[in-house]
Amino acid sequence: MKKLLSAILEFIFPRYCCICGQYLFTTAYRYICESCFEKVIFLGQNLCQKCGHDFGETGFQNPQHCPRCLKTQFCFRALRSAISLNPMARQLIHQFKYAQGEYLVKDLCKIVQQNTNFMSFIADSTFVPVPLHWRRQFSREYNQSTVLAKALAKLPIRSQVLPLLRRVRYTRPQVELRADERQINMQGAFALLPKIKIPLETKLVVFDDVLTTGATINECCKILQKHGFSNIYAATFAQKG
Ligand SMILES: [Zn+2]
Ligand SMILES: [Zn+2]
Repeated sequence: MKKLLSAILEFIFPRYCCICGQYLFTTAYRYICESCFEKVIFLGQNLCQKCGHDFGETGFQNPQHCPRCLKTQFCFRALRSAISLNPMARQLIHQFKYAQGEYLVKDLCKIVQQNTNFMSFIADSTFVPVPLHWRRQFSREYNQSTVLAKALAKLPIRSQVLPLLRRVRYTRPQVELRADERQINMQGAFALLPKIKIPLETKLVVFDDVLTTGATINECCKILQKHGFSNIYAATFAQKG
């Protein structure tokens, strides 16, 4: 009976892969087909111990040899990402972020859950989503980092979401800027929300959807550090290799 009902529902509300548009019937993911899912690259081996950069086959794991850590003095203790930002991940995030893609959050969560190293990394934490400026949030209607952080916090990993930060300055989108301009663009963009009182040794995980140079997430960590927080980590759904 249940099967019949879901078959009827599938017929009335057909689902398509959000990446390739293929019709979906019985698939593990609601809006991702199997062949698109196979393109996901999970991160977990041979990572920079600081920022999670994937060293691949080269075997180096030391932040002193990491191209990203060489450019930026990171304020977090460590950062990890669930997957690599390959073309498939880029398309998926684009759908989630700009195409009213809140409905994709369950699938994103399911992808993240497959990376058990990442799941242990974000367990027992307070997630601090990277905030959007109200102007951008108004036009996009939701903050993708908050939506994903909230969904992850519902899993049994003893974590919660606490929006400790707000954007105080409207910034140009980072994608329009060169790597060296990104840090300058982010300076003074965030502030701590007043009136939130939590112990300074709380394990914070600043959370964002994508990591490229790390300028945005690092600026958030800087503010938290400046206010005395001592246990700051960071995590993103995907990161550039
Ligand atoms: Zn597909
Ligand atoms: Zn690194």
